[in-house]
Amino acid sequence: KRESALSGGTAKPEVGKVKLTHPDRIYWPDAGVTKEGLADYYAEVWPKIAPFVAGRPLALLRAPEGIDGQTFFQKHGWKGMSKEIKLLQDPSDPTDELIVIEDLDGLLALVQSAALEIHPWGVTTKNLEKPDMIIMDLDPGEGVSWAQIINAAYEVRRRLEAAGLPVFVKTSGGKGLHVVTPLKPSAGWEAVKAFAKGIADDMAEDEPDRYVSTITKSKRKGKILVDYLRNGRGATAVAAYSSRARKGAPVSMPLDWDELSGAIGPAYFTVLNATQRLAALANDPWETFRSSEKPLPKNTGR
Ligand code: ATP
Ligand code: MN
Ligand code: MN
Repeated sequence: KRESALSGGTAKPEVGKVKLTHPDRIYWPDAGVTKEGLADYYAEVWPKIAPFVAGRPLALLRAPEGIDGQTFFQKHGWKGMSKEIKLLQDPSDPTDELIVIEDLDGLLALVQSAALEIHPWGVTTKNLEKPDMIIMDLDPGEGVSWAQIINAAYEVRRRLEAAGLPVFVKTSGGKGLHVVTPLKPSAGWEAVKAFAKGIADDMAEDEPDRYVSTITKSKRKGKILVDYLRNGRGATAVAAYSSRARKGAPVSMPLDWDELSGAIGPAYFTVLNATQRLAALANDPWETFRSSEKPLPKNTGR
């Protein structure tokens, strides 16, 4: 087993076919996380993150100079890209070559190319037209408390469960929470997005003081945007276990519902403490994520 990155730069800067150049380059100056530190984090969490990043079109937030430098949100391949990162022709857009990884070498090649955030589509490359998850992204407006965000997550859960769907939650690693439902890939993008929009619109209609479902910034003060737009074709959301290019090297961490409390904020888990958390868990709260998948319900009345 590789020496943990978390302990410093003594590990060999090479895993499989991927060579890390400048392993000591600091990606998160405030947290002291290096390129090698990130590679070691991903090598450790590979079995957990694989279902969420392998075999899916990816958008990447690249930050070659680290989080304080210039960043690029990139949805297509680039010149000089590693062979471990694959390209996939999007059948509905001949100009588009989507970014895909298949294995840990692919993920490490992403680290080598300074991808500090990994944002997959909610679909696998096996069938690009049938999403395999719903992601409800809860975005707090100014002045919204963490307790209110937690309430919103429970409200989304209640509505998804009422539709007969399993519901999971993760921190975003930023400011909010992501409520995620594994779907059996059967409905198409339009149906899934319409379903997600229906939930967001219903919440905004039923509790207009708390929720909005449109992205108009001015309307969001003191409210939570129930962002359903993560569910369209080509839309992305940060992957479970992905790092974020934000202060403290946070990661998007899957949680158990009863972990939602003041003790764990949206950026509580980081590249530095995530592996300890995972090692200490008696049960992975997302253990049944894929096995509990359900098809999008029909006849939802929308
Ligand atoms: P937070 O909890 O802070 O909201 P988040 O990951 O949910 O964290 P959002 O701003 O709500 O962040 O979502 C932005 C989403 O839009 C991302 O998930 C990403 O996939 C997508 N996206 C599209 N363009 C960009 C871009 N230029 N930079 C960052 N994200 C982008
Ligand atoms: Mn968000
Ligand atoms: Mn959002």
